[in-house]
Amino acid sequence: MVKKLKSMTIALAGNPNSGKTSLFNAIAGTHLKVGNWAGVTVERYEGYVNYKDYRIKLVDLPGTYSLNAYSPEETVARDFIAGKQADIIINVVDGTNLERNLYLTHQLMELEPEMVIALNMYDEVQKSGITIDFKYLQKLLGCHIVPVSAATKSGIDSLLDHAVRVYEKKISIAKNKIFYSEVVEEAISKVKALIETDTALTAAYGARWLAVKLFENDEAVYKMLREKPVWMRLDGKLGPILAGLETAIQGKIPERILEDRYAFVRGAIKETVKAPNEGKVTMTDRIDSVLIGKYTGLPIFLLIMWLIFQVTFTLGKVPMGWIAAFFNFAGAQASVLLPAGNIRSIVVDAIIAGVGGVVVFIPNILLLFLGLSFLEATGYMARAAFVVDKVFHKIGLHGKSFIPMVTGFGCSVPAFMACRTLKSRSDRLATMMVIPFMSCGAKLPVYILLIGAFFPVQMAGNILFGVYLFGILVAILSAKLFKSTIFRGQSEPFVMELPVYRMPSIQSVLMQMWLKAWMYIKKAGTTILAASLIIWFAANYPVNKALENTMNADAVLQSAGKSPVEKSVIMEKYKNEYAAARLEHSFAGMIGKGFEPVLKPLGFDWRINTALVSGLAAKEIVVSTMGTIYSMGQIGHETGGLVNRLRQDKAYNPAVALSLIIFVLLYVPCLAATAVFHKEAGELRMTIFYIAYAMATAWVMAFMVYRVALLFL
Ligand code: GDP
Ligand code: MG
Repeated sequence: MVKKLKSMTIALAGNPNSGKTSLFNAIAGTHLKVGNWAGVTVERYEGYVNYKDYRIKLVDLPGTYSLNAYSPEETVARDFIAGKQADIIINVVDGTNLERNLYLTHQLMELEPEMVIALNMYDEVQKSGITIDFKYLQKLLGCHIVPVSAATKSGIDSLLDHAVRVYEKKISIAKNKIFYSEVVEEAISKVKALIETDTALTAAYGARWLAVKLFENDEAVYKMLREKPVWMRLDGKLGPILAGLETAIQGKIPERILEDRYAFVRGAIKETVKAPNEGKVTMTDRIDSVLIGKYTGLPIFLLIMWLIFQVTFTLGKVPMGWIAAFFNFAGAQASVLLPAGNIRSIVVDAIIAGVGGVVVFIPNILLLFLGLSFLEATGYMARAAFVVDKVFHKIGLHGKSFIPMVTGFGCSVPAFMACRTLKSRSDRLATMMVIPFMSCGAKLPVYILLIGAFFPVQMAGNILFGVYLFGILVAILSAKLFKSTIFRGQSEPFVMELPVYRMPSIQSVLMQMWLKAWMYIKKAGTTILAASLIIWFAANYPVNKALENTMNADAVLQSAGKSPVEKSVIMEKYKNEYAAARLEHSFAGMIGKGFEPVLKPLGFDWRINTALVSGLAAKEIVVSTMGTIYSMGQIGHETGGLVNRLRQDKAYNPAVALSLIIFVLLYVPCLAATAVFHKEAGELRMTIFYIAYAMATAWVMAFMVYRVALLFL
C-alpha cells in the first residue's frame, strides 16, 4: 500500500559560497529544476525529496550577505522568508567563515522563522583543528545547529531529521531575543508597540522586525507601511523617537545597528569557537601574504588577468576556426542550393553571416567566463577587491565599488544592480557612470574579430589585455573626476572580508560559466537574429530602380561587340559595382553616410558607422551587422569569411581597427543596460549625462588612439 505523503517546504538560505547548492544536491540529488524568480533575473532552484512521512519541496534561495533589499537577490530571499513561504528555513553556515555567516544568521533570526542551522564545511573545520562548541552556540542563538558536510555528505540525515522534528514541534529551543544596545532596544520597543496596534499587519510580519527595518531606513518597509492604516499613528511619533535615539547614541542609527550585530556575532564566536594555536600562520595567511601583499598584490592581480586574456584568445581560436568553417560551409551550400533572390540573400547574408558571425565567439566567451567564475569560486576575487581597495581609496572611491566593476566584465545590467550595495549616493552614481567602460562579454567579439584580422597572433592576447586595462583606466580616471567634482562626498567605512581559499569543485565552476554563457547564446538566437533581419532589410531597401537601369544600360553599352569572355568579365564587374552602389543608397547606407561628418575624424567609413548605430541595440550586433553588410557587398560567397573581407577592404588598417575597438569599448552600452541605468539612477538628467559622457569619452579617446596609431602603424 502506498502511504500518502504530507507536504512541506524547506528553503535553504545563506551566504554566497556557503555551500547551499552543494547541500541542495546532497539532499535532493542533482534533479534540480532551474527557473527564474518572478520579475528578476535571479535563478530559482527547486527540487523534491521524500523523507519519512514527507514529500519535501526544497528551494535554494539566492545567496546573500545581508537582508537589506539592496539587490534583487536580497529582495528575493527576504520576501520569501518574511512572507513565510517556507515551513522551515535551513540556514547554511560556512563553519570556516563564521563571523560573516553569523551576521546573516542574526538577520534571519530577526524574521523569526522556524529555522535549523546547517553548520556546513564541517570536514574543513575539523581538518583545520578549529573546535566549535555548537551545543552552546545553539543556545546562544536559540536555534538548532547540525554540523554537516555537503562535500562528504555527512550529517545530511540528521539535518533532515531536525528539520522535520522542528516542523512537528517535537523539539524546540528557547528562542533568543537578540539584543541591541539598551538605548536602541528602548526605542525599538516604543515603535514596536505602535506597530502592534495593527493586528492584520503583525499577522504577516513581525512587529519587532518592522521596527528594526524602519530604524535602518529600509525603503521597502517604509513604502509598505505608508500604505497601511497604522501609518497614521506612526507618522507623527516615529520622527521624534528616531531623533531622540540619534542624540542618545551620538551617531547614525543604521550604523549603530550594524555595529551591534557584529558585536553580537563576535561575542558569540569568542565564547564558542577555539582556533588551535592562535597566532600561528595558517596556509591562508601564508598565501595571503603574497597575494594581497603590499608590493606583490597588484602585479599578481594584473598577471592573473593577463593570463586569462591570453587563454581566452589563444585557446579560443581553435574551436572558433571549426565553427567559422561550419558557417562558411553552410553559406556556400545555401548559395548553391537556393535560387538567387531575396530568400537566398536572407539566409546567406542575414542569418548565416549575421548570427553565425556572433556564434563564432562562443568559445572565447566560455573561456573568459570560466576564468572569472574560477577566480570568484576560489575566493580570489574578494582578495582582488581588497588589493584594489587601497588604490580606490586614493581616488576617493570605495573598494566595494570594485565588485560591480568586475561584474561589468560579464554584463553591465547586473553590475548596475550590484551598485545598490553602495549606500552613499555619490559613490553609487560615480560607480554606475564608469561601469560602461568595463568590457562586457558582448564587446569581446568585436575585439577578437578586429585584433584577429589586423594584428599578429603572438600579440593578440596582449592587445586584448591592453584593451581591458584601457577601459579600467578610463573608468578609474573618470571616477576620480566625478568624485572630485559633481559627486563629492565621503565614502562610508566598510570592513573588507577575506574568506578562506577553497579549491572549487569543477562542477560548480562549470555550472557558473554555463549560466553566464547561456544568456549570450539565447541572445544570438533572438535579439541578434531579429537585428540581423532588420539590418538586411535596411541594407537592401529602398530599391533604386533608376540606378540599376542606368548601370545596366552602361554595362550593356560597354560590352557591345565584345567577345563572350570579355562580356562576362564586364557583367561580373557591373554586378559587383551595382551591389556596392545599392548598399550605399539603402537605408543603412544613408544612416552611415549621415554620421560621416562626426565619425570620419576617427577613421571610420560609412559602413562602420552603420554597424556602430545598430550596435546601440546590443554590442554583438556591431559584428553581426558587419557580417551582413560585408557579405552583401560581395558577389559569390568565397570562403575565408569576414576576417579576409576586412583585410582586403581599403577602408581598414590597423589604426582604424584600434580606433574602432576603443570606440566600441567606450560608447554607450546597449539599450537594455541604459534602461537599467535609468531605473537605478532614477533621474532623467543623470541618464542624459551618462549617455553624453560615454559618447564624448568614446569620441575623444578613439580620436587620440587613431592619431597616435597612424604615426606608428
Ligand atoms: P552556494 O553558492 O552557497 O550554493 O555554494 P556552493 O554549493 O556552490 O559551494 C561553494 C563551494 O564550496 C564549492 O566549491 C563546493 O564544492 C564547496 N563546498 C560546499 N560544501 C562543502 C563542504 O561541506 N566541504 C567542503 N570542503 N567544501 C564544500
Ligand atoms: Mg549556489
